[in-house]
Amino acid sequence: MGSRYKRPYEFVDLSLKKKIEKELESREEEETKKRFKVCLICKMRKSLFSFSVDRRSRDNRNGACKICKSEQALKYYYENREKILVKVKKYQENHKRDRSTYFENYQRNNKERLKKIASAWYKENKKAIKKRNLKYYEDNKEACQARRKLWIKNHKEEIKKYNREYQKLRK
Ligand SMILES: [Zn+2]
Repeated sequence: MGSRYKRPYEFVDLSLKKKIEKELESREEEETKKRFKVCLICKMRKSLFSFSVDRRSRDNRNGACKICKSEQALKYYYENREKILVKVKKYQENHKRDRSTYFENYQRNNKERLKKIASAWYKENKKAIKKRNLKYYEDNKEACQARRKLWIKNHKEEIKKYNREYQKLRK
């Protein structure tokens, strides 16, 4: 029994061990590459989930990470805020003008018709309108009286003139 007992590690071929280790390492790197990506803007390596889906791209992911993308959008908004706001305002103004000229034209072209409709409506609803006005007055008596007082105060001269002319006519 001259041969001595060999320890387990003595069976291991060190070169083979290194080869396996290297292979494992490169495989891990490949896997990492598949799951990670470097952002074109911040140059950081991030998980694929940090990039939004982009079908035009070879790896189906956007070149810039989500954070950089949203920063870009925000930057665009702030840099062009004035331009965007002016555009919106211009659009609204143009449409407002279109609408008001439309109504003006309609009213001018339908003066008689509208008058007829209004007087018919008034005749039809005379009682209801009076009732509604009275109810409004009773519900808002103080406000109505205050408004009346204010109106009288603001139209003093006109009222005086009106009364003078009324007196003149009666003489
Ligand atoms: Zn980024």
